[in-house]
Amino acid sequence: MSEERPSRRDFLKVAAMGAAVLPKGALASRGQSDCRTWKVGTSVGLSDTSSAEQFLALKRAGIEAVELVLKGVDRQRARQAREWAEAAGIELWSGHVPYATDLDPSNPSEEERQEVVRQLRDLFDVYSLLGVKKLNIHASSEITRPIPILERRARIASARKSLATLADKADSIEAQLAVECLPRACLGNTSDEMLILLEGVASLGVTLDTNHIFQEKPEEFVRKLGSRIVNTHVADHDGIDERHWLPGNGVIDFVSIVLALQDVGYLGPFMFECAGAPGEKIAVWKQLKESVTLASAAGPAIWPARPSRDGGER
Ligand SMILES: [Zn+2]
Repeated sequence: MSEERPSRRDFLKVAAMGAAVLPKGALASRGQSDCRTWKVGTSVGLSDTSSAEQFLALKRAGIEAVELVLKGVDRQRARQAREWAEAAGIELWSGHVPYATDLDPSNPSEEERQEVVRQLRDLFDVYSLLGVKKLNIHASSEITRPIPILERRARIASARKSLATLADKADSIEAQLAVECLPRACLGNTSDEMLILLEGVASLGVTLDTNHIFQEKPEEFVRKLGSRIVNTHVADHDGIDERHWLPGNGVIDFVSIVLALQDVGYLGPFMFECAGAPGEKIAVWKQLKESVTLASAAGPAIWPARPSRDGGER
């Protein structure tokens, strides 16, 4: 019997392996959440070609929640998207705030940073029409290569000021701001740096993007950020850079990630942000849940999960 959890690409095959995949007691601390209760979602871009039918088709495929990519979304489109989602019975869970060099919360120029915050606050007023629970934001625009430490510190300081203001603005529209972990040299590319970005602002949450973590194991990131994780972006990569592949096509150990998310009391949704048709995502999620259940069943009696720490709000 292996001492390792079922992992890597094997999660799609684990269901056939039987329950003896883990040493007894290996998951003694599990039980804060049960992934089988999580909604499954997908990221959706709103464009001129979006329609009520698009949302109905997602629902028919089994999608229960969406994250809307909000680039270019105006009041009319926001109202329309809300109507379409409600008619289809899909939850508008989150919105992805636009990111660009000229919309960078970490802009080290105080004057320019204030202008960025002003623009983003105006956008949040538009997004209030959607009724989303979370607003996902990048702490910086693209930083491809390492930058000098003093420049990085200045950017972190700027980002923290912007995120604090924007977290308050999100509160005022009854949404929570969630800072997404980012790849390469972008801000928030490690759990340590993410903790610095969050420091002092209790209302800030985190989006775990499985496709963006390269300097530590994603499950370690999850355990360090704990209850601050309030949103997910699910995609697979090749171990070198982000790829936005359907899970199972890359190297990410999704079973360990879901086990860690359960441990820290994450309540869903499991939000795909990757290639693949809705039906393929639903099939992957079903297989992954079976693998996680089998992995968990090998430990002590932990199912069904105990009530969540915060009383089950989702
Ligand atoms: Zn993402």
